[in-house]
Amino acid sequence: MSGSLTPVEEAIAHLLSQASVITETRHLPLTESFDRILAQDYHVPADVPPADNSAVDGYALRAEDYVPGQALSVSDRIPAGSAPSPLKPGTAARIFTGSEVPAGADTVIMQERVEVTDSGILINAEVKADQNIRRRGQDLAQGSLALGKGTKIRAQEMGLFASMGVSEVAVVEKLRVAILSTGDELVEPGTPLAQGQIYNTNRFTLLGLLAEAGCDVVLCETLRDTRSVTRETLERAAAQADLIITSGGVSVGEEDHVRAVLEESGKLSLWRMAIKPGKPLAFGSINGTPVLGLPGNPAAVLVTFLIVGMPYIRTCQGRVQIHPVGQQVPAAFTVTSPSVRKEFVRARTESASGDTRVCAYPNQSSGVLSSACWAGGLAVVPEHAMVAEGDLLTYYPFTELLS
Ligand code: AMP
Ligand code: MG
Repeated sequence: MSGSLTPVEEAIAHLLSQASVITETRHLPLTESFDRILAQDYHVPADVPPADNSAVDGYALRAEDYVPGQALSVSDRIPAGSAPSPLKPGTAARIFTGSEVPAGADTVIMQERVEVTDSGILINAEVKADQNIRRRGQDLAQGSLALGKGTKIRAQEMGLFASMGVSEVAVVEKLRVAILSTGDELVEPGTPLAQGQIYNTNRFTLLGLLAEAGCDVVLCETLRDTRSVTRETLERAAAQADLIITSGGVSVGEEDHVRAVLEESGKLSLWRMAIKPGKPLAFGSINGTPVLGLPGNPAAVLVTFLIVGMPYIRTCQGRVQIHPVGQQVPAAFTVTSPSVRKEFVRARTESASGDTRVCAYPNQSSGVLSSACWAGGLAVVPEHAMVAEGDLLTYYPFTELLS
């Protein structure tokens, strides 16, 4: 393995080439489908809405039947939920929002424009056909594709399924992920720190990220820095998980055993990326199970998971949209010394007098996780680039990186 840095795009492409799409699916009640990924296409079984219905409270009539100044008698009353009879010619029907428009009527006049007299209704508006009617099938036409395989089910997709009468959906099984934190210095929060120790931060960042990514964490362990423990734990995790994510232990020190074990006992197909933060990232496999070896520094864990890990996970999930879509935003900061690595700056957009700019957190150290709590996303500074204030940068909100 050479010591050269793999460009970010090349590294992502390599991971995607190694990703296998989950084939197991399950049927879930619609109530439990939130955040799951559709395992098949869904076509519209019947028009939504199923019939022409009124968009307002008012009166349904045939536009032609209304003569200005002459009262039109009201022959029917159609509450929502009832099946209307055809409209008697030369009359109007009282109608409500969501009520089916009776056969024979071609327009609805809102009640605010109508004066009710003893002999019928008088209309204070131009009467034209086709007003205030929500047409049958205007939302979803029978037979059309409603939602495609690989779509993530959000609130609106749940509602759309319900509107079609679908009560159960086929979804992809969740990716089973093992989180292994490495480091003799790590202590779990809730216990006091002895000298030389720090709290295991990455475990929790990864638990949150994987929950957001719709994965199942099947194993979560903290490893001592020895070759044998690292090998044994990786092999055990490989038997249970579809993907192992490690943190730490992928750098060049002699206590960095993850990369070494992949080289000795598994496969190491990528190591060291031209990314800032997160250069030592490793990717490979152990007993055929993919291993994403993230760096140890907490901000680097977040950035590399989002930039490299998420497209890989989305591919495994069979998602339609693999790559995040960035926004072009003028920089409110400068970069005067170009880097050979693509930098993902913890940043957020700020607006003043109609002008939106992307601001960088002042301390971009890979160990400073508060940068990511302050930030709303990541701004990209390309390799070898300098940045002047006002230069357009690609900015990815965290919500987009994790969607
Ligand atoms: P390493 O690559 O293992 O040398 O780790 C790089 C840096 O990240 C070191 O300063 C580690 O102490 C720190 N680090 C590694 N794992 C964690 C973790 N789980 N939580 C917080 N810091 C970590
Ligand atoms: Mg370490």
